[in-house]
Amino acid sequence: MYKILSGKEPSDALLEELKAKVKKMAKKPHLAIVLVGNDPASEIYVKKKLEKAKTTGVKTTLREMDGSTSEKELLELVDKLNNDHEIHGFIVQSPLPEQIDEKKVIEAIDPKKDVDGWTSSNMGRMFVGLDTFLPATPAGVMKILDYYGIELEGKNITVIGRSNVVGKPLAFLLLQRNATVTICHSKTKDLSMHTKNADIIVAAAGKPGLVTAEMVKKGACIIDVGTTRVDGRLKGDVDFDNVIKKAHCSPVPGGVGPMTVAILIGNVVRAMENSN
Ligand code: NAD
Repeated sequence: MYKILSGKEPSDALLEELKAKVKKMAKKPHLAIVLVGNDPASEIYVKKKLEKAKTTGVKTTLREMDGSTSEKELLELVDKLNNDHEIHGFIVQSPLPEQIDEKKVIEAIDPKKDVDGWTSSNMGRMFVGLDTFLPATPAGVMKILDYYGIELEGKNITVIGRSNVVGKPLAFLLLQRNATVTICHSKTKDLSMHTKNADIIVAAAGKPGLVTAEMVKKGACIIDVGTTRVDGRLKGDVDFDNVIKKAHCSPVPGGVGPMTVAILIGNVVRAMENSN
């Protein structure tokens, strides 16, 4: 039988470790989350992040802004948070309303407080191998692979998706661990040619059911990053029910999602340590 690569155990283990660390801290780390508008999926993700931060002993502040907020108003709040000594790290929940240029907002975040690891400064540091806040989802995928003892060196790994926050940094982290990485995207001609050959597949396209059992090598490991709401339920990119009969696979929900949250909280704890 093939293994369900659950994110629950590794994320619980990491959160317990962080909780013990925070308990010993005289001053508690403080995370702020900026939520603009009322995208229902974002509201759920933010709630989860705040809840897990609190149970770890991390202080939290939620700054909610109306969906009609201008870019200037949001940049003013970012500036305030950058200069607020009580806040050790903060994130601006994505996606933002269309009147706001998300790249501009990310770039305005002080890299020392950028606990999502999305600023070009922190991404650049990652690419040259300097210490930094790793982007939470790619780092979460790496943690799941390591938790289940999945060998990376010399393996053929296909990453589906090339976004700045998931696919690209993840491909780089895998490359750093000596994997042979193929990056596929919406213009890739023959996706299954690249997946059939892979020892590990990471799907991060946001297309439910994109990866079917026929596309997967027997005994491979599949990590499903995709989260799309279909009829009120969260769906991954992988046809889990059929793929699990042939390969090890992470579920959605309960896979990469909880790991992403745990890594974010770990980054806040580090931001606090760095500030001392
Ligand atoms: P994105 O839309 O920015 O990027 C999607 C990528 O998939 C693009 O590079 C695109 O080229 C590629 N793609 C789209 N259709 C494809 C196809 N048919 N074949 C091959 N490639 C295709 O999205 P993102 O921010 O990178 O997120 C990807 C998915 O991961 C989304 O479903 C998102 O909700 C999810 N996500 C989950 C977590 C989590 O914590 N679980 C965190 C971040 C993102």
